[in-house]
Amino acid sequence: MNTLVWFRQDLRTLDNQALTLACEDAKARGAKLYGVFIASPAQWQTHDMGQRQQRFLLANLNALGERLAALGIPLELMVVPWFNGTAAALKGFCKARGISRIFAGAQVEIDERRRDASLIEKGFPLHLTDEHCILPPGSVVTQGQRAGQGGAMYRVFTPFARRWREIAAARPLWPIPSPAAVAPALSFEPFPFWGDSVANSPGAASKSPGAAVSESDTACANPSEDGALALWPAGEDAALEKLRGFQQRSLARYAERRDFPAIDGTSSLSPYLALGVISPRQCLASLLEAFPEVFVSESSPARTWLNELVWREFYRHLLVAFPSLSMAKNFNPLADAIVWRNDEREFEAWKAGRTGYPLVDAAMRQLQQTGWMHNRLRMVVASFLTKHLLIDWRWGERYFREQLIDGCLAANNGGWQWAAGTGCDAQPYFRIFNPMSQSEKFDPDGRFIRKYLPEIAHWPTKALHQASGTGQVANGLFDNGLSKNDSYPSPIVEHSRARLRALEVMTVMKKG
Ligand code: FAD
Repeated sequence: MNTLVWFRQDLRTLDNQALTLACEDAKARGAKLYGVFIASPAQWQTHDMGQRQQRFLLANLNALGERLAALGIPLELMVVPWFNGTAAALKGFCKARGISRIFAGAQVEIDERRRDASLIEKGFPLHLTDEHCILPPGSVVTQGQRAGQGGAMYRVFTPFARRWREIAAARPLWPIPSPAAVAPALSFEPFPFWGDSVANSPGAASKSPGAAVSESDTACANPSEDGALALWPAGEDAALEKLRGFQQRSLARYAERRDFPAIDGTSSLSPYLALGVISPRQCLASLLEAFPEVFVSESSPARTWLNELVWREFYRHLLVAFPSLSMAKNFNPLADAIVWRNDEREFEAWKAGRTGYPLVDAAMRQLQQTGWMHNRLRMVVASFLTKHLLIDWRWGERYFREQLIDGCLAANNGGWQWAAGTGCDAQPYFRIFNPMSQSEKFDPDGRFIRKYLPEIAHWPTKALHQASGTGQVANGLFDNGLSKNDSYPSPIVEHSRARLRALEVMTVMKKG
């Protein structure tokens, strides 16, 4: 009987425990090893996964297919629109290939966990490994105990991070597994995009390398046409190259440069991490190679970047500990009483980068054009939407997910609830970013704003930091009509009045 490795959010060959175990299993039993990826476009649509990230996924899947072929492992693509069709499709797939063991990386999102639990319940020989975190969810809990034995998930980041560092420092990281060839090299034919039309079809389709492709499959644009792919070339070699470049050029100065969007001061690894083209352990290994003291020395230049990797883990662990986070619920129940304004015209203006606040607008254009946004700006635009405009964070979360090439439920939900003040260890509800002073502080010469708002690039820098440069409100606080004569709009809200309004509405968050 043969072995299967089922790739999900772990589109890599290095540091992939599921793949390593599957190779060992196949070798030990003299079995043939297969690889599969199951695309579920209809289900993903309900998760708000955008076309851009799906195309990036496909490009990385094809890069993975090439690498697996060199190891003698054929990779196949199955298109099963909804998760509830997985069992039937997988059963047929395994039966046809005589598969008796399946290895796959566990996922943290609720629908994915339910799908896996149901497959195991139905008797599928599914062996799950931890691929997405350095320390698996449930292993960093209060009182030094494991979840389920008295310890609980932390609700505050700082003690979580302290405990995380203690455990991680005591664990050996090495060696990062790298699988050896299991059979002679094969050829690999790239998969076409699964396309929108597949999302609505009821059945499941299997596409093996070289299989005939229907016209509807190719209806969507070629992934390489998306400009985002020029910024994030596909494949684990490209991801590792980016990591190496960051380690050598930027890691040491990360803390001082990471908040300035005009500077290339962060790693830009998030699109790869979100799809598992690179693992967080590989990131940690690279960090420790350059700064071995990082766990023990608070002043290590790499400490801030380590902290970001730990934030990533914090949000993933939270998703497992509190499944309601996957169901669009406020983490803090007091937030259920917030009465959001939810003005659709203002939401459209925010999405289009036409709020009249240049830093906010430049950030929203960066998102539209590249599928990525600098972290400082994600905080600024999320605060602006939820506090200045009093629009429900779930609207922003969904739009981000549709646009982002690095979309990830845990980090996106965590970031939005942090900014809105509704989340776990969130920004307090009464802290409201001033988009003008954020602009002066983090884009002092206006370089970032000029890049994404060419229509006002000629303005003096001082004017770029103010709302529309005039300081005037279009037609008062509640009238969001845009200026007709100017190609750049007047501000849709006036900062200090919007701030007071938000404070008033959000007092429901005040602890009794
Ligand atoms: P670096 O600064 O180099 O950090 C390294 C890695 O650490 C990142 O690639 C990322 O995986 C992780 N990381 C860094 N900051 C955070 C953070 N605050 N929370 C969780 N993980 C972090 N990140 C996503 O990957 N996907 C999202 O959908 C996402 N949505 C966000 C929404 C909002 C409103 C906010 C405020 C933040 C969001 N983030 C999200 C977190 C963060 O903005 C991005 O991870 C970061 O900008 C990616 O750039 P980088 O790879 O250069 O990060």
